[in-house]
Amino acid sequence: MKFDLTCSIALSREADELKEELDKFLNKLEIDAELKWEFRGDKLLMRIISDKRRSHEWALRIYKQLSIFFGKHKVGVRGIHLDEYEIEIEIEKEPLKEISIPFASIKFEGKIVKIRIVDKEEEFLRENYVDRIIRLVKEKVEAQYYEGKKEYWQLIWQSEEKKPVWNKDPSEEMQRRGWIKLLGKGKWFYFPPAAAIMRAMEEIAIKEVILPLGFKEIIQPMHVAFDTWIKTGHLEGMAGEIYYVCEPKSREAEEWEKFVDLLKIKRSVEEEELMKNLKVPKAGVCYAQCPNIYSALAGKTIAEEDLPLLLFDRSTPSDRYEAGGKHGIERVDEFHRIEIVYIGTKEQLLDIKEKLIDKYKHVFDNILDLEWRMAKVTPFYLQQAGLFEEEDEIKGTIDFEAYLPYKGDRSKEWLEIQNISIVGDKYTKAFNIKSQHSQLWSGCSGIGLERWMVAFLAQKGMKPEKWPPSFKKYLSTLPDMPTFL
Ligand code: ATP
Ligand code: ZN
Ligand code: MG
Repeated sequence: MKFDLTCSIALSREADELKEELDKFLNKLEIDAELKWEFRGDKLLMRIISDKRRSHEWALRIYKQLSIFFGKHKVGVRGIHLDEYEIEIEIEKEPLKEISIPFASIKFEGKIVKIRIVDKEEEFLRENYVDRIIRLVKEKVEAQYYEGKKEYWQLIWQSEEKKPVWNKDPSEEMQRRGWIKLLGKGKWFYFPPAAAIMRAMEEIAIKEVILPLGFKEIIQPMHVAFDTWIKTGHLEGMAGEIYYVCEPKSREAEEWEKFVDLLKIKRSVEEEELMKNLKVPKAGVCYAQCPNIYSALAGKTIAEEDLPLLLFDRSTPSDRYEAGGKHGIERVDEFHRIEIVYIGTKEQLLDIKEKLIDKYKHVFDNILDLEWRMAKVTPFYLQQAGLFEEEDEIKGTIDFEAYLPYKGDRSKEWLEIQNISIVGDKYTKAFNIKSQHSQLWSGCSGIGLERWMVAFLAQKGMKPEKWPPSFKKYLSTLPDMPTFL
């Protein structure tokens, strides 16, 4: 490990006469690094070589002392500039290929990384950019090792085999009957029969799981601010899956006149003219419902007697710019979820998790009568980041999956229909959510209504007569489709 920093401090004038005194002053400072310095014109150049504390930290400490020293001698100190910074660190694994990082040039020699940064302003040193660059180098090398690997998946529980009523693809069948219609990329319109089935799923989730466990409903905006997603990590993790939202630059008709005129003449959107009238996005459409819930609780101290805090949202759909693998209503760009969020002590969350599993089990066994299973999963990147340990009994994610008969092979054709996660103090910390005494953890569970619907229809068919009586209590007949001539 080596940190070799050359920086310069701008002074209000040449101060060569202070050389000896400065030498004494600096010698008295306890600096555990090699320090060389010289005056050059109205600048003080410093070179700091350290193999322990990072040189930029020393630079800022010394800079602070120097402003006191020069202040006494009526010399102004006007900022510190990074001239050149060479960092050598050893990382755990040898990189598999070159990487690039903004602001720095990176060279590898085996497990040694050489990072070179030149000509940066004071902000660069103060705002911890250097540490983040080092972290990013490590992260990118780690990422090379999990590229293409599957997430960790371990079966916890599996229901008995159930004989499916049919083996058709419900999305195709619904499309054939006109119940669902694709409107734009991965976004469906649900006509009354399809809407009724989805609402029945919602009602089941709410009446059989959510309300009995004491969750309370909230309503949230559909837009999520970048600040919120920076805290949750979504903006860096899912940058390419977010639907970004632009505000107009102005709502004045004159500003939009040209755009509207062009539209009236061409009957199509003049994209360049539109872009001129839009602001750069500062938010996106809801990706998952929990970030806004955490954001609403940011900085709050929750009364001990209100723990665990149990909330749920069904107000906003989630939008994701999905890549391939889109199929019917199973993987879509806009889907409807209920998301529940729980915040409490570790013990309380463990208890909630058990209760949730019981209730979900009740729904899948006794109401939807599904062939389903549960698995403990950890996305590979999280295993790497050490956020979740496989052995960890409480933290982590459980996926609930249902068999899709129309796809055939029972050994592999299962669809994730929902999950339960406990994320430890990741979000309570990020949003500074506290209680009076207890250490708070949190977690969430996302119930994908499209997924419940597909699983049910794929196994139970589309004829209400053949549906399980327990489900028919929620929906026994379907509203008619309008007759289109
Ligand atoms: P996947 O690995 O399938 O992309 P995910 O890990 O992105 O799923 P989560 O963010 O954990 O999914 O969301 C939880 C639930 O949201 C899923 O169990 C599923 O019910 C639903 N869901 C997620 N993405 C979609 C989608 N594109 N279409 C429909 N439902 C979805
Ligand atoms: Zn969530
Ligand atoms: Mg996904």
